[in-house]
Amino acid sequence: MINKNEFRMNGNPNNGNGSNGNGRGKPDVRVNLFTAAEAADEPDILRLNDEIVEYEQTEELTHSPEQHAAVEKAIHDLLDAFNVNWDDPNYTDTPKRVAKAYMEYWASGYGRDPKDEVTVFPNSSRSNDIVMVKDMRFYSLCSHHLAPIEGYAAIAYIPDKNLLGLSKLGRILEIYARRFQLQERIGQQTADALMNLIKPKGVMVVLYNVTHGCMSSRGVKLHESNTTTMTSRGVFHNDPTLRSEVMSLLSLRNP
Ligand code: ZN
Repeated sequence: MINKNEFRMNGNPNNGNGSNGNGRGKPDVRVNLFTAAEAADEPDILRLNDEIVEYEQTEELTHSPEQHAAVEKAIHDLLDAFNVNWDDPNYTDTPKRVAKAYMEYWASGYGRDPKDEVTVFPNSSRSNDIVMVKDMRFYSLCSHHLAPIEGYAAIAYIPDKNLLGLSKLGRILEIYARRFQLQERIGQQTADALMNLIKPKGVMVVLYNVTHGCMSSRGVKLHESNTTTMTSRGVFHNDPTLRSEVMSLLSLRNP
């Protein structure tokens, strides 16, 4: 029985500044669904009254021969655990091939910084209308299973003093998609990168018709499901009318 329900974001009265003390200005997120005494009555219920910890992301891509060899060995060991026949030419170079694929595609977003890859232009026409690119195909791998995530993205922003080349919206998305990811996090990181880079009035990232290999490859009905996430920052966060404007642009059919 859950009779205490408390969900708090950005409002920890203990420090009053919205910081959780990690020095990086991350929002303070706490979930406190029931007290310890109540939880003791319900031993089978997952205890949710611990603070949510934001784990530092430590992944790196060095492209060094050592890292390449380490990935290659890991793939070799995985296949070895299945006792593959290494004389079969279909397996001979598989560890090498898979390592190369991780470095060049699946994990290639690590070690890339959006600010090194885009040029920011002044908004000389002073346009303050929505700019949106949609139907961008993206590929990723889920952190939970290393299974493929694939779907479509739409990115909308309302410029302030800066503009970005349209193709660069997809470039920034790709930097965050080509990692071990959660769908939600791809949207958040892409939106935050755009906010930092061009300081627009607002950003909205919608990832839609997204299929997760870990869901589609099992289950009876789940293989037909798809997932949509929406991340909004700035004016889009504060104004539901602007958000629905983006959603109606998104539903416009291509000719
Ligand atoms: Zn998964």
